Amino acid sequence: MTGLGPRIDGALIWQELPEVDRTALGIVAVELASVLMLQHRLNREDMGAAPAAGGLLAPAVERAAGTAEFELQGVLVALLDAARPEILSVQAGPDPRLPARLGRICRGCGCSQADACAEGCTWVEPDLCSACAVLGPA
Ligand SMILES: [Zn+2]
Ligand SMILES: [Zn+2]
Repeated sequence: MTGLGPRIDGALIWQELPEVDRTALGIVAVELASVLMLQHRLNREDMGAAPAAGGLLAPAVERAAGTAEFELQGVLVALLDAARPEILSVQAGPDPRLPARLGRICRGCGCSQADACAEGCTWVEPDLCSACAVLGPA
């Protein structure tokens, strides 16, 4: 992997986890993803999009979804920290690691396939985008 140092390889970490940790993490990840889908719907509706097929969400659902998102994120982090405490140590240290899942990342600005520069950019080196290349060596 090029640029910005080694990555967090989720696939490798998952392979090495005991089944009990996989199960605990998987349950929370599924529930968190479901709440994020709900939050996505809320954000769309907040920005004026037409309500989903089920209509506007009740305020009680909105409130509980917000709490669920926060709580489940915390539980997910705690479970991973219990299973693989070295990951938190690395993230707290001088050389934190980005997830492998993000793919190529520009060493100059941090843009990626999922988040190109505003003016548009392409890869001119494995870890350098065209927007940064015109600015000189990163
Ligand atoms: Zn760049
Ligand atoms: Zn870029």
